[in-house]
Amino acid sequence: MKISLVNMPWQALDYPSLACGILQTVISKLRPNDEVLEYHGNIKWAEYLLEITSGDITPIEYNIISDNTFYYGAGDWVFGIAEKDRTSCGKDYIGYLTDIGVSNDIIRLVINLRKLSNEFVERSSREILSTKPDVVGFSTTFMQNAASLQVAKRIKEISSGTTIVFGGGNCDDQQGLALHRNFPFIDFVVRGEGEETFPQLLDAIESGNGFEQIMGLCWRNREKQIVHNEQSKHPVPIWKVPEPIYDSYFEMINQSPIRGYIEPKLTFEGARGCWWGEKSQCTFCGLNGSSMAFRSKDPELLVSTIESAVKKYQTLDVIMVDNIIDTKFFSTLLPKLRDDDWDLRMHYEVKSNLSEEQVSMLKDAKVFHIQPGIESLNTRVLKLMKKGVTGTQNIKLLRWCEESNLDVSWNYLYGFPGEEQTDYDDIISQISSLHHLHPPAGATRIALERFSPYFEDSSLGLTNLGAAKFYRYLYELSDNELAEMAYLFDATRQGIDEQVALRLKRELEKWIKNYPTSTLEYFALPGGQLLIEDRRMPNQKEYIIENPILARAYIELFNGLTISSLSKKLISQFGHQEACLEDFLSSWINSQVNLGLVFRDRERFTSLATKPNAQRIRIVG
Ligand code: SF4
Repeated sequence: MKISLVNMPWQALDYPSLACGILQTVISKLRPNDEVLEYHGNIKWAEYLLEITSGDITPIEYNIISDNTFYYGAGDWVFGIAEKDRTSCGKDYIGYLTDIGVSNDIIRLVINLRKLSNEFVERSSREILSTKPDVVGFSTTFMQNAASLQVAKRIKEISSGTTIVFGGGNCDDQQGLALHRNFPFIDFVVRGEGEETFPQLLDAIESGNGFEQIMGLCWRNREKQIVHNEQSKHPVPIWKVPEPIYDSYFEMINQSPIRGYIEPKLTFEGARGCWWGEKSQCTFCGLNGSSMAFRSKDPELLVSTIESAVKKYQTLDVIMVDNIIDTKFFSTLLPKLRDDDWDLRMHYEVKSNLSEEQVSMLKDAKVFHIQPGIESLNTRVLKLMKKGVTGTQNIKLLRWCEESNLDVSWNYLYGFPGEEQTDYDDIISQISSLHHLHPPAGATRIALERFSPYFEDSSLGLTNLGAAKFYRYLYELSDNELAEMAYLFDATRQGIDEQVALRLKRELEKWIKNYPTSTLEYFALPGGQLLIEDRRMPNQKEYIIENPILARAYIELFNGLTISSLSKKLISQFGHQEACLEDFLSSWINSQVNLGLVFRDRERFTSLATKPNAQRIRIVG
């Protein structure tokens, strides 16, 4: 059989599809006589845009849509399959974008892209069919649905005998049923992980039998009735997930006219699921779909997979797609990567309660960028979202990352049921003290995501009002069907109002603006004194803590302490001197908070200055 694995926009351009790469390996092992092709519809779309607009729409614009518009579905709308919306030129959707405050630049871009999408869908469908595949398999996650549906529909119109299969995150659970039910040109939907079921499906297609035994499969029987096999409750064992093949991506990207705009990277999977979510799923998180079960790979195998891919594809940038790093990797994988000869540049998602030693280990293992799920700096709000970390821990992490030149991506989330204005007043008043630490990309009201605890249990405080409004501009389906297919939902607003959110956003904007030129560093002086050089914009000052007990107190506060525990520590070192006593420390610490040298997280206090760092590199965004 000839199988075409298709990866449509808006998958990122700078790395290959892990899902398609893994399926290639699986098929080549289990069905060696099959020919597997990959169609990189995302790269083709970026090339098409560059060509047709004579360079006006580049991969930079592609990334703007791909990285920033998921929560209002602009990427999907570009390929939207609602005819009604197409004929009305999408006026309703544009009105919606205006109402929610999307910038005119993005609106103009989205309109232009949409005008070009019909021609691309036609071109794409014919290109895929030109290789005469028996089966075309679409991998769809995030904003890949509409482009995949449009191309699948056109392929079926041109070649009714070509079998269309959908799989990927957008097909999980009810979403897969809804896709199969509402789009009859999709022959099969593979729900859940596909490493075992996709090759089984190919066997069944070839023999015409055995569809009923494939877990999670949506199919039609001889009477054309829709059949949904139960989705497996048992996740695929991680040892059954082979290393991906990325040959066709690198062959294509290295020859592509968009190559000059992007730096290709490798993607690997060290683990699936989330070990924290197994214990206490963050209330807003739907990331792991219907399978939270945590599984991680053999570190030896992982290192050898990375090494051979680095050699083969001549690429040192590596993205680990794990939702959370396995804590065991700190003693297994990371030391191996540290001792490796390769000058890798790795990206990892981690939990934010790392220790200082773990931050150093990441850095030593050539991790240069982490996504630590900081989400908030307020312990009460972090508790509401069951994040399992405190504001103090988050501040410490930001400080250690600054000292280690470890780049950080994070977002400030708000809108949690039970949060109060005072939780934010406290943070907003202290943000100017943080300008030397890595800022969040912005602040966002949480969305109601399928599979999240807020979605599953309305008693947690968010009432589901149905599929997010933008879906009605993408599909001509009833509200019920949209709700079956959607990942994002509208919900009753909870938590802080928009005025408080605006104050937060304004402070974050100043933080983002000032970060590249702000430092706050401390230096030990003779006699136990401490010099703190404050080069945070727009103020520049120097402070000397002359009293050695208070200088010591400042050092102790790097750990984030209450006044009483600080006092105990100082008494154990200096005896019952006045500067060690709680009353004295209380007023001194408050003065340090007012100077922006110490961060207050309820009853805990954390020193903010960092060790001097001559190699400081600032990357923002
Ligand atoms: S937000 Fe991160 S840590 Fe929390 S459940 Fe989701 S994947 Fe796990």
